[in-house]
Amino acid sequence: MKILFCASEAWPWAKSGGLADVAYALPKALSQSAGVTLMIPWYRFMQVALESLERLADVTLSFGGHAYAVTYYRQQKEGMEVLFVYSELLSERDYLYGPPGTAYEENDLRFALFSRAIVAFAQSARYDILHLNDWHTALAALFARERGLSAKTLFTIHNLAFQGVFARNRLELLGIDSEYFHMEALEFYGRINFMKAGIAFADAVTTVSPTYAKEILTPEFGCGLEGFLRKHRAKLRGIRNGIDTDVFDPEHDKMLACRLKRSLRRFKVCNRKPLQIAENTLPLFIFIGRMTEQKGVDLLASLCGELAQLPLIFAFLGDGAGEISRQLEAADRKYGNIHYFRGYDERLAHRLYAAADFLVMPSRFEPCGLNQMIAMRYGTLPIVHKTGGLADTVHAIDNKEVACGRGIVIDKLTPEDLLKAIRSALALYQKRERLEALNRFNMACDFSFAGPAEAYLACYRALQRKKRG
Ligand code: ADP
Repeated sequence: MKILFCASEAWPWAKSGGLADVAYALPKALSQSAGVTLMIPWYRFMQVALESLERLADVTLSFGGHAYAVTYYRQQKEGMEVLFVYSELLSERDYLYGPPGTAYEENDLRFALFSRAIVAFAQSARYDILHLNDWHTALAALFARERGLSAKTLFTIHNLAFQGVFARNRLELLGIDSEYFHMEALEFYGRINFMKAGIAFADAVTTVSPTYAKEILTPEFGCGLEGFLRKHRAKLRGIRNGIDTDVFDPEHDKMLACRLKRSLRRFKVCNRKPLQIAENTLPLFIFIGRMTEQKGVDLLASLCGELAQLPLIFAFLGDGAGEISRQLEAADRKYGNIHYFRGYDERLAHRLYAAADFLVMPSRFEPCGLNQMIAMRYGTLPIVHKTGGLADTVHAIDNKEVACGRGIVIDKLTPEDLLKAIRSALALYQKRERLEALNRFNMACDFSFAGPAEAYLACYRALQRKKRG
């Protein structure tokens, strides 16, 4: 089976969040059993120079009254072929998506171009499956249909909150026929919705955890697409994400100050030292992620006054320029036990996962979430809100039935219950042996992509059978 796996970002070349982790780890896992090509755009901020890549093909893509020069470059990595798509409009930018405003507005054309480049390439090579990810590649499902591509398409929703919605008057420039501008296709309250193209035209739709697959059919989580998704529910299913257990490996992780040998305690103490956080005897709680309401970090920020009174250290790592960031900066200045590392820092993230005792993830919604799985792999107990993929991967510590993934679970997210969960973590911290046993149990869990990759392969095979039948 030959699979073309397409995404707007993939670690280690370009990453803004979990999509990039998945867009590397999943094709890598799939390549154990199938021929996989990963296709991503080339961006000028990437560490990989175009000259170091093999120039594979040049094409001109004409649509919307313009002709765009596109070049495909190739690299071999970890048993899979990686193709980089170069086109000036797509590539010559210093950001992935840019801030909302003028930079963001041209993304419709940038990613429509990328989607056309995907389909043009798939047409010239024989692929069985086109695996598309999120709104940036969603239009490829429509273009593949239009072109009568023999490959079957699978579209994965990584986060329904980002749908790629743009002004209607761009339709012509994008080269999209106005016959698709209606409720059953791309139209969304008078605007163009890229995500809808993936849902409507892909042969199968998946999302990144079984619970989120159910949640998005409801108004609370459906972001306005719940009705549309319900119409297409027959082809929708949830497959939970995994993590790359080679990248996130406490025994071999080169980003750490110290790697795990026998003692988990020593591993944590040693990784905590270079963080320059005072008070090594107090438990370390961490939050890592985007500074948005989705992640519930605003609740934590509003609780800083209370957290400051507790016998703990709290470290936040996240990129952001908004109100939540400002609140955390103020808390960092005011309280000795609250630290805010502002920015995006991969190495620091690894060290925090390793050094921490607890990871707090009070997401209001969470399609899957990777942080909790990374934390568990590094012997850090997760404290999570029971939603989406967090509900599928972290189970209450007194739950005897479930096989894997234990932590402190908040059933209903309120500031009071969040604080209660943090207090119960502090009580657990006093029972060192119990905590260590829980962490050891989590560390032995299989959060790799092996299982999820099998589930995707089963989906691909089902699509192929349908095609033959
Ligand atoms: P998202 O919703 O942002 O995709 P996920 O939990 O799926 O969240 O994945 C987040 C990924 O990004 C994890 O690998 C996490 O460690 C990483 N990450 C998030 N914020 C930062 C940051 N500020 N610095 C370093 N890594 C980060």
